[in-house]
Formats: sequence, C-alpha cells, structure tokens
Amino acid sequence: MGVLEMKKFFVLGFGRSGRAVAQLLAQQGRSVHVYDDEIAALEWSLDNTALDGAEDFISHAEAATVEQSLLECDCLVVSPGVPLDHPLVAKARENNLEVTGELEVAYQIFSATFDASIVGVTGTNGKSTVVNLLGDILTAGGRRNVVAGNIGTPFSEVVAEEESFDVVVLEISSFQLDTISEFKSDVAVLLNVTADHLDRYQESIDNYAASKARILSGMGKDGTFVYNAEDETCRRIAESFPGRKIPFSSAKDLDEGAFRKGDTIYRSHDGIDESVMPVADFKPVGVHNLENALAAVATATAFGLDVPSIRKGLLEYRPLPHRMELTRVINGVAYINDSKATNVDATIKSVRSIDGDLVLIMGGQDKSGDFMVLRNHLTHVKQVILIGEAREKIRAALKGSCELVDARTMREAVERAGRTTVAGDTVLLAPACASFDMFKNYTERGECFRDEVASLEK
Ligand code: ADP
Repeated sequence: MGVLEMKKFFVLGFGRSGRAVAQLLAQQGRSVHVYDDEIAALEWSLDNTALDGAEDFISHAEAATVEQSLLECDCLVVSPGVPLDHPLVAKARENNLEVTGELEVAYQIFSATFDASIVGVTGTNGKSTVVNLLGDILTAGGRRNVVAGNIGTPFSEVVAEEESFDVVVLEISSFQLDTISEFKSDVAVLLNVTADHLDRYQESIDNYAASKARILSGMGKDGTFVYNAEDETCRRIAESFPGRKIPFSSAKDLDEGAFRKGDTIYRSHDGIDESVMPVADFKPVGVHNLENALAAVATATAFGLDVPSIRKGLLEYRPLPHRMELTRVINGVAYINDSKATNVDATIKSVRSIDGDLVLIMGGQDKSGDFMVLRNHLTHVKQVILIGEAREKIRAALKGSCELVDARTMREAVERAGRTTVAGDTVLLAPACASFDMFKNYTERGECFRDEVASLEK
C-alpha cells in the first residue's frame, strides 16, 4: 500500500526530519503519533515550538503505551538517526506494518503533485559540496531548483511549501536509502564508496556499498547515472545500470563525461570535447574538491546545461563552513578547519590536499574506522595530536609512522600545534571520527577550533 492510501502514521525519532515529516503528514490530514527515546527532548520540542497548525493531528505517544500506539497505525516512519534494529521497528515488522522513512513519504506526496526532475546525490564524502555546487550551476543555467535532504532542509519541508521547481537536488545518506521503496531519481549521482558508518552495517563494507547502490532503485533506461570512474565500487555498480551513464574522472580522459586534463577541467559530450575552466580557478582546494567539481559538471551535462553556465556556477561557488576552511594565518602558519572530515578517507584527502609540513589534529568518537590506512599518507605530517575517545585506537594504528601526542581539550590541541609549527606549516583539524564524545556535532567542534585559534596570541 502506498503512503497516500494510509491514514495513521507513527514517526520514530523527532529530530528535524521526523518533525518535518510529521508536519507534512498532518498537513495532508493524516493523524500522526510521534515518539523519541529522548522523551524529555520530545516533550520540550512539542511544548515549545510551533507546529504550524498541525497540533490537532500530531500526538505524543507515551512511553508506557508506546507499542499500543504503534499498533494503532498503518505505517512506521523511521528517522535516519534511528538504527533499524530498534525494538519498535522489529515490533512494526512483526505486525506487518509498513516501515518507511521521511524521504520516501516526502517523495510519494511530492510525485503525486509535482513533476520536477529529481537528482539524488549520495556517496561517502562530498555530498553537501556537490549538491550546493549543483544548485549554483542550475541557477546559473536558469533552472529553478531547490537543494534539500540530508544537507539540512528535509525534503518534507520543501514538499510542504508547495512551491514548484524544475529540479530538486537531494543529498541522500545511506541511512535514508535503507528505508526507500518507490523513491526514484531521474539523475542519480554516486561520488565514492569508502569505509564509513560500518557500525551500522554489521562491520561489512559490502553491506554499506549495497546500501549506496540503492540510489539506482527503480531507475531504468530513461534514467541517468553519474559516477566516479576512479572508484572501483562505483564502476562495479555502474556495470549493470541500463540507462545513460556519465562518468567523471580526476585521473584520465573520458570519451563521455567530465575529466581533468592537465590543468583544465573538460567535459566530453556527444563526441565534442569542451574546456570548462582551469582547475586553479575553482576555489575549494584539494583533489577531492576537484572530483566534486567534476561530478557537478557531469550532472549539469545530464541537464543539457552549456559550458558558460557551468563555469559561472563553479566560479561563484564558495566552500561550506567546516570543510577545508582557512580559519586564520598566524606568523605564517595556516589553521584549517576540516571538522566535517568525519571518516578516514576524508582525512586522507584533506592531508593530501596540503602542500608543505603540517600538524594534524584528529580523533573523536570512532565509527569503526580503519586508521591503519592513514599511515601511507603521513610523510609530510610532523606531528599528530590525538583527541577524544578514539585516541588509543589511533595511537596503536599509527605507532612508528610519525610523532603522536595527546591533548585532552581542543584548546590544548591548538596550543600544542602552535608550538610545533613554523612559518609555512599548516595546522589541520581533520578528525576522521564523529564528534559526539566531546561536542554536540561537527559544527560545534569546528567552532571550538575556530575560537581556540582566534584566541592564540601572535
Ligand atoms: P558529505 O556531505 O558527504 O559529508 P561534504 O561535502 O560535507 O560531504 O564534505 C565533508 C568532508 O569530506 C570534507 O570536509 C572533506 O574532508 C571530505 N570530502 C569532500 N569531498 C570529498 C570527496 N569527493 N572525496 C573524499 N573526501 C571528500
């Protein structure tokens, strides 16, 4: 049964997307029970924030009778932050309730009303950068678009606004892909697949890759798949795709797609090679950001955009905060905040992007990261300063590769880094871990780094 035929919903997890989907369903006249294991936070949120006219439809399921409330419903909507082995998910499945996610609900309501194209962007790293870039390029090309999904504005919020667009660009995480059924992109983008979140995938990279491959769900010959030709998993997933394929590569020329040749970004389309712009004109640094630019060029090509529009979008793009953000230069030492580097591959890419010697501040809450692979990339790293819970695991993995020291706080880490560096060096915060052991989220971690750097004396 599709979402539109169902009457009663149970939303599990009342963060931003849980709240947005509850409001959207209420707006559609459906009754919604909401629940969160953090009861106090849920109650506060229901009491203190406006539900925009949805109050009559939304009710708080009480902890004592939560299963009963669930079983009154047709459908359980699980927020991406809630693991799928949560007891209420098991209960719903045992009782043959539909189990779905916010993205799926928003999609079904959206596709019944609107006919905009959907671009679904997934991958381990680079999603937010690429969706924002695409938004800028589509705008430069005169396409009305909105950027939503995992990046911050849930798709449900966009659907509730009832505005029409030519293109909806969605950032989609693997957790969101795990609960889709009918969701279908017109253009699917897979940036890369490297180890991350393995704690939620039974420690198996194959399970995680299978989740990422779901970005192609439901797509047939009329769909387009944009993928990274330098990533083995992406290439393997592309093999069986029946529709149009547009690869991108930072390493080799392609007959069809976007690629770097020498110092220039090119695209090749219908047998014509076109120079898009010099690599150096694209502001965000590093080979990973070049890959992100190429992904955006390839996707823009799927929409028939011309090179001047693509160039304009790329030139005007400014990096997001906490992603390779140059915080301050003190006495010739650059302090870079890449707090969003929350897994090992992201940290490798950040470290490789820096010319000259550097001090790396890393650590935090481990997500089953394989820190050993970092060893091959530390030749220009003078010192690694370890913070957070994962310190001992990282120390064991990196022992003997470079100097390793501890810091208990971000202040201590930044001060230590300041003492170790000389003019021309870089201090890089690229943790390779989640932040939740010391901070509310990666944003707070990046802000703390910024504040500590700001308070350093010249
Ligand atoms: P996501 O939305 O997938 O988390 P972001 O665009 O926010 O990705 O970038 C997060 C971090 O991942 C960046 O700070 C950088 O360290 C790293 N990163 C960005 N793009 C790539 C890429 N294409 N390949 C590998 N790492 C990347």
